[in-house]
Amino acid sequence: MSKDSLDRLRRRIEDLDANLLKLLNQRATVSAEIGKLKVKNGLGVYDHHREESIFKYLAQRNQGPLNTSEISRIFSEIISVSRKLQSSITGDGSELHVRSTAESEASVLGHTSLYGILGNPVAHSMSPLMHNAAFRFLGIDAIYLPFEVQDLQGAVSGMKALGIKGASVTHPFKREIFALIDEIDDTAEKIGAVNTLVFGTEGVRGTNTDWVGAVRCLEALLPIEDHKFVVIGAGGAARAVVFGVTSKGGEAIVVNRSEDKGRALAEELDCAFVPLSEIESAHGDCLVNTTPVGMHPKEDEMPVPKRVLGAFKGVVDVIYNPLKTMLLREAEAAGCMVASGFEMFVFQGTEQFRIWTGKEPPVELMRNLVLERLRNSK
Ligand code: NAP
Repeated sequence: MSKDSLDRLRRRIEDLDANLLKLLNQRATVSAEIGKLKVKNGLGVYDHHREESIFKYLAQRNQGPLNTSEISRIFSEIISVSRKLQSSITGDGSELHVRSTAESEASVLGHTSLYGILGNPVAHSMSPLMHNAAFRFLGIDAIYLPFEVQDLQGAVSGMKALGIKGASVTHPFKREIFALIDEIDDTAEKIGAVNTLVFGTEGVRGTNTDWVGAVRCLEALLPIEDHKFVVIGAGGAARAVVFGVTSKGGEAIVVNRSEDKGRALAEELDCAFVPLSEIESAHGDCLVNTTPVGMHPKEDEMPVPKRVLGAFKGVVDVIYNPLKTMLLREAEAAGCMVASGFEMFVFQGTEQFRIWTGKEPPVELMRNLVLERLRNSK
């Protein structure tokens, strides 16, 4: 090989490198634009599904001679640089740094505050996603974990012993927890359900934020004051909705399958009762489903016949998976305004975050993450 031809090939490599450099910088600029949009929309930097799809389309387009694993190695580095770049982007004057999952895990240390959710099952709970993102967003040294509990009493004493700061309580423990904690505030006492625990030096206090979520969800449709709400169900969610309605100056009618349970709730919270079999005689401005009927995977079920829906201005379903239940689809078709339990879920969580940390939660970030997860879970 002559020296000339070697020099010529090296110059070609230098030209190609210069082009690659230009392209990499262009890619970084576009990636930074994406980072700004993510900030604006409250989305996290790390998107596992998106990164996987990049590797997939590169493998499909690759024509060699580099093989797929070499391409993956090179692009892993490029994507990791993009992630770091997006993480360092400042949003509208405030410093925003949403770290990747790996980074946040690496930052769990001896002094990291611990929070969690007690329930059974909890594998699909979206509370860890929402609270961990909020902790990271605000730079709070804390982590929130799901605990699938068999022995509630053991779990509560274990949490006390471990110095856990706060916990969410979900199905089936919202009433059982009453006997195991040191203080129950007036709201939780009236509702008859605890969904939030605060661990302090004086012991464990139980409160309820589901009603705050319920009020936000209903008010997105129509004002509560002077309006009548027909609430289907008599469990924990119904209790939070009825309490929210009556404490904001609205009227509630409880409609339930088991008459004894429905009547007991109506008497306790001072409202009317109608058996589910007589739903046609329950009139109001807004119908609220608090039963699990229509929840994933039994998405083709409805708690009431569709002929009753047209009589209501609004219909709310506290179920959030699916985002739009069959009840809401039929209600929309009947001309009603509709709202999903998704808003209730997010706002019970943002209220918990406020109680635990004393800080204003990043509502949009929490909302968008849950929405994204619900949409991608299909
Ligand atoms: P729960 O305490 O078990 O109460 C369920 C109620 O639904 C009971 O009154 C039950 O009636 C009624 N019900 C169940 N199956 C029925 C059926 N096939 N037909 C008619 N009525 C039926 O449950 P919960 O804790 O209140 O939770 C209920 C739903 O709300 C769940 O889907 C949960 O995921 C959801 N939720 C959502 C949020 C949110 O933030 N969006 C918060 C809490 C709960 P009987 O009395 O006759 O058994």
